[in-house]
Amino acid sequence: MSKEYFDEISKLIPAAEIVCDEPMSKHTTFRIGGVADVFIKISQPEQLQLLIPKLAEKKIPYYVIGKGSNLLVSDAGFRGVVIQLEDAFDEIQVNNNVITARAGASMAKVAKVALQNKLTGLEFAAGIPGTVGGGVIMNAGAYGGEMKDIVTKVRYLNTDGTVAEHTGEEMQFAYRNSILKSKPECIVLEVEMELQPGDEAEILATMQDLAKRRKDKQPLEYPSAGSTFKRPEGYFAGKLIGDAGFGGYCVGDASVSEKHNGFVINTGNAKAADVKKLIDEVRQGVEKQFGVILEPEVIFLGEFE
Ligand SMILES: Cc1cc2nc3c(=O)[nH]c(=O)nc-3n(C[C@H](O)[C@H](O)[C@H](O)COP(=O)(O)OP(=O)(O)OC[C@H]3O[C@@H](n4cnc5c(N)ncnc54)[C@H](O)[C@@H]3O)c2cc1C
Repeated sequence: MSKEYFDEISKLIPAAEIVCDEPMSKHTTFRIGGVADVFIKISQPEQLQLLIPKLAEKKIPYYVIGKGSNLLVSDAGFRGVVIQLEDAFDEIQVNNNVITARAGASMAKVAKVALQNKLTGLEFAAGIPGTVGGGVIMNAGAYGGEMKDIVTKVRYLNTDGTVAEHTGEEMQFAYRNSILKSKPECIVLEVEMELQPGDEAEILATMQDLAKRRKDKQPLEYPSAGSTFKRPEGYFAGKLIGDAGFGGYCVGDASVSEKHNGFVINTGNAKAADVKKLIDEVRQGVEKQFGVILEPEVIFLGEFE
């Protein structure tokens, strides 16, 4: 990325935070990842509308992230521009039982707003450590709820700077998947969610119960990206991994959590290559012993061997 181009982006969106050679380990929950050539924090949709057509026109690779809670970024980092929608891109509006949230709003914050407004349907999301944008791309879900159940509209930006809209149905939500997941050039701007009136005490009790279940079962004390693998039909990934003898298995500082065998954790200074090798070995071991192919839920960004 030339200095000249960095200057051009800075002039185009002067109010945005822009830095060069930013370690992605600072922006992923795995605390892993080499540098992005350019890293931009966006706070306004208008900044994206100026930036994206320019990057597309110049064929500069870009990638949008939320909280990086489902990402493994390679040790070599990302050659191009990483755009983060977090914190400042997080306006939330409530209109009767409809919540409209900007893509950078955290799932926890939106769930809290639902609680304050006595709206039920988002309890499952309170403990998912990502943004609404990432959640809608991934069709994030937990404990029987998923984004598919509540999302009614998704507004997103095309590479030419136009804003388009998908209904919940048009999003083609499936298990940890959506139509926009296969179009990383499109950027989710805003998500509309329809909830139901509920009882505040009951909503709170459910959230507290789910938070306790997470704390008891998940290695939340270590950096990770949550469940490393998707749930194979008819099985539980963690059980297969444990039964195959991988509980506690390590490659460098990357380890299969003993508390929850479905989580790969970073116990110190794990490299992306360690995590990748561990994932590959676990997949091979499980396939060899049980004939089940584990598909990673974690998304890989950058070059891997
Ligand atoms: C401790 C822990 C527990 C977890 N528990 C769960 C769980 O219970 N259920 C679950 O489903 N997941 C869980 N996860 C995984 C993760 O939190 C979710 O997948 C979450 O939805 C990712 O959101 P994010 O904002 O961090 O997205 P990122 O990880 O930053 O990005 C994920 C994908 O979404 C894309 N993306 C992000 N924002 C946008 C946008 N605005 N426009 C277009 N594309 C975008 C990225 O390009 C990438 O492809 C967990 C993770 C951790 C660390």
